[in-house]
Parts: sequence; C-alpha cells; structure tokens
Amino acid sequence: MSSSQFSSLKLPEKQLQNLKDLGYQQMTPIQQQSLPLVMSGKDVIAKAKTGSGKTAAFGIGLLENIRVESFACQALVLCPTRELAGQVAKEIRKLARYRHNVKVLTLCGGMPIGPQIGSLAHGAHIVVGTPGRIQDHLRKGTLSLDKTRTVVLDEADRMLDMGFYDEMVDILELTPSDRQTLLFSATYPDKIQQISGDFQRDPVMVEVESVH
Ligand code: ADP
Ligand code: MG
Repeated sequence: MSSSQFSSLKLPEKQLQNLKDLGYQQMTPIQQQSLPLVMSGKDVIAKAKTGSGKTAAFGIGLLENIRVESFACQALVLCPTRELAGQVAKEIRKLARYRHNVKVLTLCGGMPIGPQIGSLAHGAHIVVGTPGRIQDHLRKGTLSLDKTRTVVLDEADRMLDMGFYDEMVDILELTPSDRQTLLFSATYPDKIQQISGDFQRDPVMVEVESVH
C-alpha cells in the first residue's frame, strides 16, 4: 500500500511547504493513486468523481516537469466549460506558488480573442482551456503544441457530452506523438475508450469508488 503523505513523492521541499500552507495535509485517494504514475511519465486513465481532488492529481506532477526557460506550451489541460477551466487554472496557480515564474494561461470561448493572442505572444508554460477556443488559436497559428509534453483531458466524458469529440481528436493530433496523455473522467463510455485506444500508450487505469 502506497503512502498518503505528499512527502512520499519526490517533490521539492518548497512544494511540500506550499502544500502545507494550502492546508493539504495528505493526498486524497485519487492523488495517491495517480501522482506516482503521472510523475513517472505514464499515461493514466483516472476514474473519479467531482470533488475528489483531480486537479492536484495531475497538477502537482505537471508542475515538476515544466522547464521555465522554455516559453512554449509544455502542458495543455482541456476542460469542458469556461467555469471548469477557470477553476483548474486557479488551482494550478495555487499549486505553482512555490515556482513564481511558471505561467499558466486560460483560453476559453466567450471571451475576446485579442487579449488572449497578446498573452500568448508573451508565452505560457501551461495552457488551460476549452476545446473550441484552443482549436481557434491553433488554426490562427497563435498557439503551437509542438513542444507540449503532457495533455490532460479533464472531465473527458463531459467534453463528449458537449460535443467536443472531433475537437479533442484534432487537438491531440497536433501534439507530439510521444507526449504523456492523462484522461480524467467520471464515466468510461465507448468514445472515451476509443480516444484512449487511439491516443494513449499502455495506459494505467486508476479508480476511486467514493469521495473520501
Ligand atoms: P475535482 O476536480 O475532483 O472536482 P478539485 O481538484 O477541484 O476536485 O478539488 C476539490 C477541492 O479540494 C479544491 O478546493 C481543492 O483545493 C481541494 N483539495 C485538493 N486536494 C486536496 C488535499 N490533498 N487536501 C485538502 N484539500 C484538497
Ligand atoms: Mg476538476
């Protein structure tokens, strides 16, 4: 049985202190199962409900892999709605407090595209957004995923419900084939299995039955 202590992960002392400051005393079950895999570079399918701490279950791992010297988008998190993307970006920024120079950018529809293009011109290490708007930026050439090493499909089943299947596939196809792909979903319908089969390599499935 693995430890539920954050200190059991290979994290910098500054991040352990940051997690303490955030009041995170120990890992939630999904974090305990996912983080060692995420940090070792594995592809993961994680089944867990809302409120189980999924953002940190990938976010803490993502942050360790960011090289601040490169301003290319190194990690992309796709979310079904603007609200969820906003929450995920907020949580990642909290987790990133120990590394002030990591830039997290939110790219969602319903917002003017001009300021987003301006922000992208300055570079961002982690991009969190909704599939439609991410695709708009890819088409315009204002966002490139050539250097992206990790893609997270957060609430993948809800993205499907919202009709984002084609966008998810098109976006994944524009990322390097040796990327890490992390799929978080409360349910596991056929189309999620299809995306996993087409875009994940040797994924490990982790599942948490009930919220702690
Ligand atoms: P989910 O994506 O599974 O719905 P979130 O990542 O949004 O869950 O996390 C839900 C809440 O739990 C957030 O307010 C977050 O700050 C908090 N949280 C996450 N991990 C921990 C932890 N290990 N200890 C305490 N609180 C946590
Ligand atoms: Mg979430």
